[in-house]
Formats: sequence, structure tokens, C-alpha cells
Amino acid sequence: MASFHRLRKCQSTGVAVSTHITQLHTSSHACAKQHHKMLVLGGGSGGITMSARMKRLMGAGNVAVVEPSEMHYYQPIWTLVGAGAKKAASSGRPTASVMPSGVHWVKSKVQEINPDTNTVRTEDGTEITYEYLIVALGLQLHFERVKGLPEGFEHPKIGSNYSIQTVEKTWKALQDFKEGNAVFTFPNTPVKCAGAPQKIMYLSDAYLRKTGKREKANIMYNTSLPVLFGIKKYADSLWDIVKRRDLQVNLRQNLIEVRPDKQEAVFENLDKPGETRVVEYEMLHVTPPMGPSLVVKGSPLADDGGWLDLNKDTLQHKKYPNVFGIGDCTNLPTAKTGAAVAAQSAVLHRTISRLLKNEKPDKIYDGYTSCPLVTSYNTVILAEFDYNGQPLETFPINQAKERRLMYHMKADVMPHLYWHGLLRGLWGGPGPYRKLFHLGMK
Ligand SMILES: Cc1cc2nc3c(=O)[nH]c(=O)nc-3n(C[C@H](O)[C@H](O)[C@H](O)COP(=O)(O)OP(=O)(O)OC[C@H]3O[C@@H](n4cnc5c(N)ncnc54)[C@H](O)[C@@H]3O)c2cc1C
Repeated sequence: MASFHRLRKCQSTGVAVSTHITQLHTSSHACAKQHHKMLVLGGGSGGITMSARMKRLMGAGNVAVVEPSEMHYYQPIWTLVGAGAKKAASSGRPTASVMPSGVHWVKSKVQEINPDTNTVRTEDGTEITYEYLIVALGLQLHFERVKGLPEGFEHPKIGSNYSIQTVEKTWKALQDFKEGNAVFTFPNTPVKCAGAPQKIMYLSDAYLRKTGKREKANIMYNTSLPVLFGIKKYADSLWDIVKRRDLQVNLRQNLIEVRPDKQEAVFENLDKPGETRVVEYEMLHVTPPMGPSLVVKGSPLADDGGWLDLNKDTLQHKKYPNVFGIGDCTNLPTAKTGAAVAAQSAVLHRTISRLLKNEKPDKIYDGYTSCPLVTSYNTVILAEFDYNGQPLETFPINQAKERRLMYHMKADVMPHLYWHGLLRGLWGGPGPYRKLFHLGMK
């Protein structure tokens, strides 16, 4: 109700405001000044999840979300879209439909955060003050750091599952494959879902086998990393698969240039500075370099690397006690995934509810994260692990094995859990089920 009054006030000043009563939340484009008890920056996985939880904790009228995008995407399904197993349209829904009802949506981009004055400034000039701030701005893709991109995507034979603009180009390149190298890359930066760059390789291999073209394909995974996957238990299984399916893995190779007119990709050897290698491709899947949100990086909230500087147990900011964070924008030392967002949301909810009562946070985030490593059109290895890189598996079976059941989880169960559980603030990760399945032992 309070935000409704503020909106009315904006309207009377003649500033353009759109209120979608049928969407049950209020939204504004521009209003010179606003104040909200709880301000959430970013309306992606972490932002919508936390706004739903904060609505429950302090009432819808006290919560606002700053998010410029009209569409909200379930990014994990892009792996299957790039391989033609799902439609791109199935990955997105209007942001209005996932915004919790009654929560105030500021439809603009955050431009500046000043935690010393509890102020956020948006692109349209609105100044928003807050009592509490949750930063959920995700990370930044940097296609432009590869010479020849992003304009190279205008040519065929090249795609990337990492954005809605390029994911269908992956599927097109795969379908058009005739003969030659199919090349998959992993950049020399932190990434979100570190398994995704190789999942599309396994799917492409499966597709080329299914269509009788595998013998004409040389499939290679050129990764900047010195390992195939960070957690040994799952890496061992993946090495077995690449050997069995004749997939070439080249470690410490970093994509620096694409020459789409010649269908050439240029890699630097990270172990031998100055040494480069040109690879001709018939299909190229690019995982772009990634980095921190530029807004976080340019604020006092960032650590030296530009990531949101959080206490890794409680998700409270290390210097500003009324600031919290979740997801890909943070410096939490775990793999950046939606599954991590789910587990973090339960801890952050608890931390904030305790602080509101002047009590100390008592729930600790163990770094839980998960990566369903899709290895074909009907198998998945479900990697789950914690801050220490120790497997933290939900099911009482060996999850390093390829399983049909896990594919079904990835393709059918998880999207449902995302839209109807996580985004409504009702899913805090599989911790309680893990305890149950392991008879309280994990
Ligand atoms: C191809 C692919 C496959 C993946 N597979 C999996 C998987 O299998 N399992 C899994 O758990 N995770 C997976 N992920 C990762 C998962 O999608 C992310 O980790 C998760 O979405 C992170 O949530 P977030 O809220 O931190 O960031 P996001 O969901 O990216 O949200 C960030 C939001 O901030 C907004 N924003 C950015 N800048 C501004 C600004 N200046 N002002 C206002 N708003 C802004 C953006 O518009 C966006 O809505 C995958 C991701 C990709 C791309």
C-alpha cells in the first residue's frame, strides 16, 4: 500500500509511471526519490527468490526490486535448447509474472550504489534509499573480450548457450554440421555453471552419432583450466566418458580470437606465453569470458577482484551490516549456480530474520552447489558439493554414474521446482531431503 501511495505521488509530479493492477504488483519507470525498507537489486534467480522471502518476512509494501528486463529466464535449460531438446521460448516468462504480488518493481538499471548513504541511483535518475539492501546483480558476460565477437555471431557455425540471443545459433550450427572440427571452449575467468561448457559437447557428440555424422567429426574441448572438472570424483567419471567417446580434451587453451569468415578460432597456450594455435572449425561453441557486475565492481561493496564481499557463512556484507548478497555477483568461494542460489536463499532468509530481531545469525552456508552434468539426451551425472570440494550428494546412490533418472530431474523436475518453488521462496535446496535419504547422517 505504501508503495502504491508513493506511485500516486510520482504520478502527480507528472513523471511517467505505469501501474499494472492486473499484475498485482506496482511498477515504476521514473520517480525522482523513493525509499524502501528492503531493496533488492536484480530480479534474476536470486533477486526474485529473495523478494518473495522478504515479502513473507516484512510485508510486500516494504520490498522493492530494481530490474530492467521485461523477461525472466531459466538459464539452466539453455543447455538443452542449444542441443535442440527444448525450445528457447520455454526458458522465459515475463518478469511481471514472477514478481511477487504487491512488491514494488523499479523497472530500471542500477547505476550506482552508495552504501555510506544507503542510496542507490538508477539509470533513469531515480534515487532510492533503503534500510536493508540485498545485492543479486548476477555476473557480466564479456563476449567482446574475444576478438571478432560479438559480431561474429552474425555468421553461421558459431553459437553460445550463455545468452538468449545466441543459444539457438548453437542448435543451428549443430544441425548444419557436415564434416570437420566441432570445438567447445572454456574461458580464462570464473564462469557460471562451470559444467555447461562441456555439457553441450556431450550432447553434440550424441546428436552427431544419432544422425550418422560422428565419423566425420573431430570433437575437441579446449579449456583454460588444468582439469576437466574441479571435483575429482566427477572428473574421474568424465575422463572415462571422453576416452570412451573419443572426445579430445586440450587443457590450458584459451580462446582469444574468432575469424568467422574463415571459420578459424585462435587459442593461446596459457602455459607457454606467446604461443598461439589456429583451429579450423565446422562448429564452434563459445563460453564467453565473465566477470563481476560492473555496478558492484565500481562500488565500495566490492572486494579486490570486484565481487560482492560477503561473510561466507552468513551472506552478510563484511563491512556494511545492512547489506547482503546472493548468487553469481558474490565472492562466495563456491561454484556459481542456481542450485547454490537456492541453498543460499534459505541461509540469507534466516540471517536477515535473526538480525531484524536483534539476534545473531545462527545458520551457516556450507557452500552447497550442484551441477547436473548432462552427458547425452538421456543421461546426467549429478555433481553436488560444498565449499571444500567434498561431494554432498542428495541421493543414497553413487551420483558420479550416468543416470536416466537424473536426466529426468534436470529436464523436467528442476524447471518446475524453479518456477513454482525457488522463485516463490519455497525451495531452499535439497538439504532436508539429503538428511532424510541418509537417515540424518549427512
Ligand atoms: C548455459 C547455462 C547453464 C546453466 N546451468 C545450470 C545448471 O544446470 N544448474 C544450476 O544450478 N545453474 C545453472 N546455471 C547458472 C544459473 O543460471 C545462475 O547461477 C543463476 O541464474 C544465478 O542467479 P543470480 O540471481 O545470481 O543471477 P541472474 O539469474 O543472472 O540474475 C541477475 C539479474 O540482475 C539483473 N541485472 C544485471 N545488471 C543490473 C543492473 N545494473 N541493474 C538492475 N538489474 C541488473 C539482470 O537483468 C538479471 O535479471 C546455468 C547458466 C547458464 C548460462
